[in-house]
Amino acid sequence: MVIVMKSGATEEQIQTVCSTIEEHGLSTLLMPGSVMAVGIPSAIPADLREPLAQKLQILPGVSQVTHVSRSYKLASREFHPSDTVVRVGEVEIGADAFTVMAGPCSIEGYEQMKAAAEAVKACGAVVLRGGAFKPRTSPYSFQGLAEEGLRIMQQVGKEVGIYTVSEVMSPDMVETVGRYVDILQIGARSMQNFPLLIEAGKSSKPVLLKRGPAATLDEFLLAAEYVLSNGNPDVILCERGVVPLDRTYTRNTLDLAAIPVLKEQTHLPVIVDPSHGVGVAKYVPAMSCAALVAGADGLLVEVHPDPRHALSDAAQTVDTDAFSEMMASLRRFAAMVGKRMSERVRA
Ligand code: PEP
Ligand code: MN
Repeated sequence: MVIVMKSGATEEQIQTVCSTIEEHGLSTLLMPGSVMAVGIPSAIPADLREPLAQKLQILPGVSQVTHVSRSYKLASREFHPSDTVVRVGEVEIGADAFTVMAGPCSIEGYEQMKAAAEAVKACGAVVLRGGAFKPRTSPYSFQGLAEEGLRIMQQVGKEVGIYTVSEVMSPDMVETVGRYVDILQIGARSMQNFPLLIEAGKSSKPVLLKRGPAATLDEFLLAAEYVLSNGNPDVILCERGVVPLDRTYTRNTLDLAAIPVLKEQTHLPVIVDPSHGVGVAKYVPAMSCAALVAGADGLLVEVHPDPRHALSDAAQTVDTDAFSEMMASLRRFAAMVGKRMSERVRA
């Protein structure tokens, strides 16, 4: 339930709304905006819903009481009608901005990260990606450089002047990864790692949450709800492809329809990972432009200075020339659909 206050409602009137709700053992959440709103993020017992709504509706300063029909509350547009803009320094993710995060699948070493960071920044990316803790299907594949990788990423991020995103795989590592990077990534395989979502919810760092390969959109939004309901409002959703009917030509099926659907159901920014979404480098530019036109707020894309020698996901990784061309196309499409490419980077 959301209780929207009249403009000019007093502190005391807002407080009365909160205490009326809390008397019933329910928690409240203040949502400042153009007008103040008070939310009840948890489920309300069915027999209390109507009587409580009626009681609140007649309190002084209350403009409107709305029921949130979705199982996810904080993530829903009913609860929070305006777009959430996640801020990383002066970079904005959401609303009219289109934000490109790019870099290798894995952090392999200082030289590779430095070259990748300089190239993607020169092309207009504002966040550097790279995994230090890699969720690999086989235990014999390259597992990432762990904390040493994060140290490299932090150093490169500062030297080049670009923000950073990297995956955290376990709840006990949220604090450590958060010390090195600007955005915590929760990978597709971890979308329903509930202890991890809860811990990320307690972090002060924005969370980039990837959709599970077989997750419905409601399951995806409920995973986001875990982060939001634990106190972290800065969640970026990432569509990265779902289990395909046919793996002959693509690794996953990039669910582009998820973009307008999510944008309607939630206020959270929605970005797209075309690299894991299709798994084939030559299809990445087309899918990136399609994502922008479909309404995405940005991209997470794998770019490597020497993709053929990448230690992971070489087949889906574009080189810096292809990335540069792709960014030029994205700029043209952004102008057509009235999106602004995020350009400000770390000083
Ligand atoms: C990644 O982006 O590094 C990654 C492992 O992707 P996903 O979790 O979508 O498989
Ligand atoms: Mn990868």
